[in-house]
Amino acid sequence: MPHAELTLLPRIVPVRKAIDLQIRIAGGPLFTQRQGNLLCRGQPCTVFAMGLFEAGPLANQDHILPLRFDPDADAFRLRVSCSVEQEYRLRIRSAVDGKDQVVAELSFYALEDDLLGRMPYKGDLHMHSNRSDGRDSPAHVAAACRRIGFDFMAVTDHRQYEPSLEARDAFRDLPIDLAILPGEEIHAPGNPVHIVNFGGKASINALFQDPAYEAAVGQLSRSLDLPAGVDPRVYAATSWIFDQIRRVGGLGIFCHPYWLSYSPDQAQAAYISEALTSCLLERRPFDALELLGGYHRHEVEANILQVTRYAAELARSQPLPIVGVSDAHGCETGKLFGWYYTVAFAHSLDLPDLIGAVKDSLSVAVEALPGETVRVYGPFRLVKVVLFLLREVFPEHDRLCAAEGDLMLRWIGEHPSGLEQGQAWVREQLRDRQGRCAAWLNQVVARP
Ligand SMILES: [Zn+2]
Ligand SMILES: [Zn+2]
Repeated sequence: MPHAELTLLPRIVPVRKAIDLQIRIAGGPLFTQRQGNLLCRGQPCTVFAMGLFEAGPLANQDHILPLRFDPDADAFRLRVSCSVEQEYRLRIRSAVDGKDQVVAELSFYALEDDLLGRMPYKGDLHMHSNRSDGRDSPAHVAAACRRIGFDFMAVTDHRQYEPSLEARDAFRDLPIDLAILPGEEIHAPGNPVHIVNFGGKASINALFQDPAYEAAVGQLSRSLDLPAGVDPRVYAATSWIFDQIRRVGGLGIFCHPYWLSYSPDQAQAAYISEALTSCLLERRPFDALELLGGYHRHEVEANILQVTRYAAELARSQPLPIVGVSDAHGCETGKLFGWYYTVAFAHSLDLPDLIGAVKDSLSVAVEALPGETVRVYGPFRLVKVVLFLLREVFPEHDRLCAAEGDLMLRWIGEHPSGLEQGQAWVREQLRDRQGRCAAWLNQVVARP
């Protein structure tokens, strides 16, 4: 017998406001969601709304809502007003074999207005293409990002800014919803610190040819008062680079502080000294820290150290803006790509909004290794919301993105099936899909 499906909309609502939730029933005459319990249409049932963390469930106290699933109706409305920002569960109870049991459970989240006015955008801010030491073309990296559910991305090749523009230009004038942003990984002469310029309007790597660079760093290094063990030239170069990234409107990211690299004689050690990392975390010339860097499974200790150091920094000082990145060097290798990413709560996908969200500590880092439980790190309040989103909202979002990413791969003739459709057909399909993700999110979120 076909089972009906229950869906709930909206899923994210404002706190302290009366909001109508709609439970839709689609499909067959019966549904089962929990431990094989069956609920027939027309059978009386009761809906309990419960807060997941705060006992006081709803402000208006009528959290027990009698409901009857009419044989003919396909939707029911419930009015709720939530007193506390948190996840809530609607538990539908009914008599099964003479016993009152939970037959279905649906989740929604009540948010304060500051977050409700924003959207949760997923993206990766640090990846490589075959223009440096990665495997795929810059355009392929962009399309593959959409295929796995990202809303924004940048190719950040070693010492090269052009590949990020190449990725953007490959889809110029196409109706797509992925924000493809400029970027590069910066390696300054004589400075071991890896830095990402995310979104900047110009290349910083290009400035190192200019003798003015040496002069500026030399002058700055003489004026610094630094702790023992920190090379003034290195700190000066690092701080100067972050200033230049801000000057061109980018976000300056301090990359993988606890990465263990191999020296030419095969000795393994942290790629920069603890003294330098501590000095950078204390003075914070950067805009954001790679809380989760792109580490393989055997390198996971580095991320553990970064997460633990982040907790220590929060206890010691101001909020610390963070991102999660894959640092992937290939999208089809089954490694790194999609394993770590960022969710930023921004007003839009425009670069200043994305950067503002990260700088205001309205972002989290997500770890999603294949076959493992997804983990989220960052400000406590946001971690709670993102755990809910990962479970209840992102799966549909990602499904919509995947279809667009698939079309983008066809556009550049790099679809894994090898099947070619005409570009006019692909453009038409993309136009048809444009805005679907945003429309879905608008249904999910009840704006204040
Ligand atoms: Zn690096
Ligand atoms: Zn890198």
